[in-house]
Amino acid sequence: MPKQKAQKPQRKSYKLKHINKTIQEGDAVLMRSSESGKPSYVAKVESIDARGSNAKIRVRWYYRPEESMGGRRQFHGAKEVFLSDHYDLQSADTIEGKCKVHSFSSYTKLESVGNDDFFCRFEYNSATGAFDPDRVAVFCKCEMPYNPDDLMVQCEDCSEWFHPSCIGTTIEATKKLKHFFCEECAPQQQELLQNSNSTSKNGDAKVNSKRSLEASKPRNKHTKRSG
Ligand SMILES: [Zn+2]
Ligand SMILES: [Zn+2]
Repeated sequence: MPKQKAQKPQRKSYKLKHINKTIQEGDAVLMRSSESGKPSYVAKVESIDARGSNAKIRVRWYYRPEESMGGRRQFHGAKEVFLSDHYDLQSADTIEGKCKVHSFSSYTKLESVGNDDFFCRFEYNSATGAFDPDRVAVFCKCEMPYNPDDLMVQCEDCSEWFHPSCIGTTIEATKKLKHFFCEECAPQQQELLQNSNSTSKNGDAKVNSKRSLEASKPRNKHTKRSG
């Protein structure tokens, strides 16, 4: 038997002449939509067949929320996509460019989000419409999963996160707050303040918007079905 060298499997790459870019298996790409005026499709390059003059790419589609059975929900981010179980063979010519599909946590840490940045936190079953994971942490009085595009404010006492609109205030007013205590914690804080008659902590209320939530990402008391 011929000896086989233990080798790392090489990721196949292919030069796309029409956009002057090289793609590799595993890359995320944007593909021309068949309907004009629609945003490009997002896909993961599974394998490349470069035999012959017309290279064929086996892709695994990312679905946008509006392409899923449940449609876009309030907690879906503008740049959110779901990794589907839907595969296709496509001509390499339909690739318009490369893009990046980040994990949820690395997306929230991006300093700026470019046109080519997306994030994925769910896998999606295109036949049943089911999501994996099928439960996600929820926050605020509205019990919604976290949408990284929405600003939230954290209670200094119980550490729960809230949308300004859900607690009867505005984003602008929230940003000006020195301290924030939620409805449940506020009465106790009032008492403490009256008893001690001193200002306890100083510093600004913790207000977070897109991409700054990082490790402080909410302790979650509850979870909810994502589908
Ligand atoms: Zn809310
Ligand atoms: Zn609280």
